[in-house]
Amino acid sequence: MNQSQAVFDKVLAHARRLSGQHLYAGQLRAPLSSKTFPVASPATRRAIGNAADGDVQDVAAAVAAATAAQREWAAMSPRARGKILQEAAASLTAHAEEIATLLALETGKAIRTESRVEANVLADCFEFYGGLGSELKGETIPFAPNMLVFTQREPIGVVAAILPWNAPLMLMAFKIAPALVAGNTVVVKSAEEAPLSTLFVVDLLNRTLPAGVVNILSGFGPTCGGPLVADARVGKVTFTGSVETGKIIAHAAAERLIPTTLELGGKSPMIVMEDADLDRAVAGAVAGMRFTRQGQSCTAASRMLVHRSLCEAFVARMGEKVNAMVMGDPLDEKTDIGTIISTAQFERVQSYVELGRRIPDVQTLQLSSMPQAPELKNGLYVQPTVFVGVGNDHRLAREEIFGPVTCVIPFDEYEEAIAMANDSDYGLAATIWTKDLHRALDAIQRLQAGFVQVNQNIVAQPGLSYGGFKQSGLGKEASLEAMLDHFTQKKTVLISRDG
Ligand code: ADP
Repeated sequence: MNQSQAVFDKVLAHARRLSGQHLYAGQLRAPLSSKTFPVASPATRRAIGNAADGDVQDVAAAVAAATAAQREWAAMSPRARGKILQEAAASLTAHAEEIATLLALETGKAIRTESRVEANVLADCFEFYGGLGSELKGETIPFAPNMLVFTQREPIGVVAAILPWNAPLMLMAFKIAPALVAGNTVVVKSAEEAPLSTLFVVDLLNRTLPAGVVNILSGFGPTCGGPLVADARVGKVTFTGSVETGKIIAHAAAERLIPTTLELGGKSPMIVMEDADLDRAVAGAVAGMRFTRQGQSCTAASRMLVHRSLCEAFVARMGEKVNAMVMGDPLDEKTDIGTIISTAQFERVQSYVELGRRIPDVQTLQLSSMPQAPELKNGLYVQPTVFVGVGNDHRLAREEIFGPVTCVIPFDEYEEAIAMANDSDYGLAATIWTKDLHRALDAIQRLQAGFVQVNQNIVAQPGLSYGGFKQSGLGKEASLEAMLDHFTQKKTVLISRDG
């Protein structure tokens, strides 16, 4: 048996063991209603296992576990908590191949280009936050000579982390690692489409962390996520997902006056000026559009604003590059591009492709080629699609498609490009490609986005604050600032010297 077959068999055994379970108070637990729902590979459509269909009773039990564990967890020194997170990071690294394989199987994200990368970022994020315990500092304030005045940061209590399916492990780490090192305990609600890989990771974390500190439930939004946000013992909600659901959660949190962090997607512009290095820009477009992930990324470069003089060459070179990418079995090392996550999302993406095809005078490029293997014939594959010449006011350029569909929008003047880049409800990320330093600096000032890059387009990383402007959300993730601002509350203390 070769090594990858051995890992695959192990992963199937994990999926069976975890099937139909939540994990709280340190143990796998069947849902109190006994209800489950099936989990299948989007590439082969074969069953992998089941997920627990959590409801208000499971939420109550998991939040009780998190509440019971919080005091003791918060009483540890922050560095001791950080050390435990770093031990957890080592265990995640040791199991990275199994984690990546289960992620690829469950979500269709190609193992080499996506799932392995995400498994590594997951461990890296725990490592990063594990080192930040001693940064949970307050200040002393020279308020009056007869007083000692200082601030201290305290944990909020129990944090609810509601996850999406597109990068479930990375986004779970961005939420729970800072919450934990700051002394909170956590109840995660996984995405319906990706319940087992997150459960596997939480199971691994529970081998290092005390029982009840990290808990996870699976289930549906309104019946499991809703009661979690509404539970009176939850002190903070951190969420990544759609704008509509983000607003529902923000309303529910406002009812109880608890803080939220919301990461709600984007329609990120990429401006390619006439003096850009075309090869770099094309490579950046392919990477930035996350074609390897079927475009299922909040920061996908889904509006490519290209100077008219470069447009033809840009499109031709991007076409060549994407044509050379292999769509196929997510578990095959040769595969560059995996699948769409679910049939609902597949149909949604297809409807946008059909919409684009019907726009007069818009050129459509369908790139790469559909996999031919018989076992993948029902797989949720969509060919990377580029629409050239779409107007910035068209639905294709305004709505988040969350699929491998991008628009190339030509422009003549820099001012026009900046105006179009900012003419969006979203403001998550933006890039500009130019050799003109003055123009780059001007664009940095004017682009209405929370994550701006010049002549590159890398993904969110531990250490860099990540979060959107406008409808893209509230708050930041992934950085020291994210931990301090979003997972602690500050107390001001005044001590009289005269007493
Ligand atoms: P998508 O449409 O891509 O699935 P959603 O924003 O609906 O994105 O879902 C993201 C996460 O939010 C999922 O874990 C989902 O179960 C959860 N969710 C959906 N609706 C609600 C809700 N009303 N309350 C709490 N969580 C919800």
